[in-house]
Amino acid sequence: MLGVAEAVETVLAAVAPLDVAAVHLEDALGRFAARDVTSSLAIPPWDNSSMDGYAVRASDVAAGAKLRVAATIRAGGLAERALEPGEAMKIMTGAPVPAGADTVIRIEDTGEKDGVVTINDARDTGRNVRRRAEDIAEGQLVVARGTRLLAPHIGVLASIGMSRVPVHAMPLVAILSTGDELVRVEDLAGAQAGRSIVSSNSYSLAALVRESGGVPVDNGLIADDPAALREALEEASDTDLVITSGGISVGEFDHTRAVIEAMGGEIVFWKVRMRPGANIAFGSVNGTPWLGLPGNPVSALIGGELFIRPMLRKMSGALRLYPRPVTAIAAEPFKGSESMTQLIRGILTRAENGELHARSTGPQGSGILSSMAAANALLVVPAGRAIDLGEIVTALPLDPDAHLTERFELHA
Ligand code: AMP
Ligand code: MG
Repeated sequence: MLGVAEAVETVLAAVAPLDVAAVHLEDALGRFAARDVTSSLAIPPWDNSSMDGYAVRASDVAAGAKLRVAATIRAGGLAERALEPGEAMKIMTGAPVPAGADTVIRIEDTGEKDGVVTINDARDTGRNVRRRAEDIAEGQLVVARGTRLLAPHIGVLASIGMSRVPVHAMPLVAILSTGDELVRVEDLAGAQAGRSIVSSNSYSLAALVRESGGVPVDNGLIADDPAALREALEEASDTDLVITSGGISVGEFDHTRAVIEAMGGEIVFWKVRMRPGANIAFGSVNGTPWLGLPGNPVSALIGGELFIRPMLRKMSGALRLYPRPVTAIAAEPFKGSESMTQLIRGILTRAENGELHARSTGPQGSGILSSMAAANALLVVPAGRAIDLGEIVTALPLDPDAHLTERFELHA
């Protein structure tokens, strides 16, 4: 039976970044750059003023100097000629500095009368000119391949005139929920009569896929019937990843494995040394990677965290695929398992002194989905170990917003 790390490596080795296509800049947010992007332009394209004031020559500047005002240059304007010795040109912030000028004297340090400006303070000598290309030079790398495009990247790409950005296609992910007991969220009556349950996995897994940059395709609720499952899998395999939920253990109505095999699919593994979620399978169906998650909603989501997220990141062109573990101080003892990596739904809190403290969400029954909603991390207890109160525990953060706080604070 594979350990968690080997299983994660195995699924990742089976997927590759998807095809590259250009999307409009406005649709690029959150996607990963598929290529290095270099600038064909210099930014700023011309020397320009960082102040409202007077463009002058440094050699003309002295306290009390008087210079003839030859022109006014506004942002969006351009000087009609070079600045001659003994002259000044009035200039606005962002306006191109005329040839010949190397200084902008801020307006507060000047007085203008009858077309002549007096410099009252020479402190700006040689200053207040933003040089051409000081932000971005021609040919400079501005966004490296694999960068997740966030607001500043979108801004940089806009500034260099990239209206279309090469990104990888968003992975299309089929979700099949198997189980005779399942109903859709709108059909609560049966659930309340005790006959059926809402297929929460259909919704939570679709959400997880969407959060991870994929496009979920709900292939519906599939009865515990081999023929129905086969038909659904045939239909679903025209995607980048097929996820099934349920029917993967050894119950009388667990058909998933046998059906995949009958279809000529490949089963690479079908158990992982982790708890919850040991019954998790990976392989392919009709050549498409397939992840078989247990029906148990907690196990399904843990499998989603550990396997689906990094797979979708890789397909999307990300270079960093894995959550960075953090270490915390156990605020309670944690029991482990003899042979399995135990994953405890946990809550990390930051103490006043900056330490991270870890506690569990409470009862860890694998049917307790609400505990997954309460958790902001999975606490990792290695096989054959227990963690005592006060010991260090490794945690995988779950909630990207978990570091947000209720008060605005700038620590001095
Ligand atoms: P299975 O893996 O099919 O043996 O299912 C394990 C447990 O998870 C059972 O209690 C199922 O009722 C439950 N379950 C299966 N599929 C889902 C689903 N899509 N949503 C919520 N619970 C499910
Ligand atoms: Mg089932």
